[in-house]
Amino acid sequence: MHPELQAHPEYFEKEIVQIADNVYQAFGFAASNVYMIVGDGGVVIIDTTETTTAAENILAEFRRITDLPVKTIILTHSHRDHVSGASVFAAGESPEILASDRSSEDSLLEETRHPRAVKAMQVRTKRQFGIGLSYPDEIIGIGVGPGNRPLKGMGAGILPPTRRIGGEGETVTTCGIKLELAMAPGESPDHMVVWYANRKVLFSGDNFYRSFPNLYAIRGTEYRDFDGWADTLDQLMAFGPEVLAPGHTKAVMGADTVREVLTDYRDAIRHVITETREGMDAGKTIDELAHSVKLPPELGEKPYLREYYGRVEFAVRAYFVGTMGWFDGNPTSLSPLSPADEAKRFIELAGGTEAVMKAVEQARADEDYQWALQLVDRLIHTGHGGENTKAIKAELLRMHAQSQINCPTRHYYIQSAKELEQG
Ligand SMILES: [Zn+2]
Repeated sequence: MHPELQAHPEYFEKEIVQIADNVYQAFGFAASNVYMIVGDGGVVIIDTTETTTAAENILAEFRRITDLPVKTIILTHSHRDHVSGASVFAAGESPEILASDRSSEDSLLEETRHPRAVKAMQVRTKRQFGIGLSYPDEIIGIGVGPGNRPLKGMGAGILPPTRRIGGEGETVTTCGIKLELAMAPGESPDHMVVWYANRKVLFSGDNFYRSFPNLYAIRGTEYRDFDGWADTLDQLMAFGPEVLAPGHTKAVMGADTVREVLTDYRDAIRHVITETREGMDAGKTIDELAHSVKLPPELGEKPYLREYYGRVEFAVRAYFVGTMGWFDGNPTSLSPLSPADEAKRFIELAGGTEAVMKAVEQARADEDYQWALQLVDRLIHTGHGGENTKAIKAELLRMHAQSQINCPTRHYYIQSAKELEQG
């Protein structure tokens, strides 16, 4: 396992953190955080986690602080890990449930208008999040949340919003608490942040968490507007928050620190945009740019820009495809050979199946796992190398996973290995 990930179980220990006078964060109970603001005669809940089990555990902790009823639930965006415990917090009350009226292609609060490859997305979601992998050997954490969290009741407690917030947002007063709800497209286009001016607390949803941002999720997502996300970080800074309360990872305390992390976060996104765009203008292909664009060390070494969750090379590819489409600009790429045809010719050129097998063995011995995988894939594409090739690929994936700092990559390798092993 990557040494930095070994610190995650301790970091993500469960705890209820009082981040301001009357504001509490439930941290480490689930993939995402839940916030409670205690007001006059009731409480406001911001986000509800991914499972009803985690929501029940959190509500029980909140009930040790106050037994005031839940009057309002605010959903920062429509991703599963934020909307799925709403029924638990709403039970026995009829709170208003507020969400943005903007849509998102992967929203769980609305029907998709046209069919999508839902089955593929489900398979890939399971792989990205390592759902079902054993803790702590296979999954140590999801990069921005704990690995040993409850999975029962996943997606089970979704409730439709009672009111959608339109336009650029709205100021609401609930339980004597004045909150500004502001549209803030970033990780998803339907993001709505919550500004609690009286306490200078900004609930930022997933537009900030302590990891390089997930500008592309390998579970399969449409293009996330990079420029829009960077602009939104300026918008967040303009509130002048003294406490930044993110959808994942710990809160950031102190006006100067909040400004610094948001500035760095914005600059990291802008750096990827600029480097990729300039590379594209210089005629570089998507694969070349995925290898050459890096964060400068002064950003990449910041603890909140490590690639635990998002990954720079995924972002580079996403920006290229999102703004230019799949064609890399090289005429050779316009209509390449089929994978099976290319593999057959490659194996012949390399001296046959046995020679390629030998090269796989050598690459494995050299810990050159990516090359070994690219070779073994050619054997699989052609059916050469026999039944054994899938077992070899599974073993290579497990070994390759060990050095990964990016949790989605690590899980994707291990879960794919399991699928190959199980046939
Ligand atoms: Zn999230």
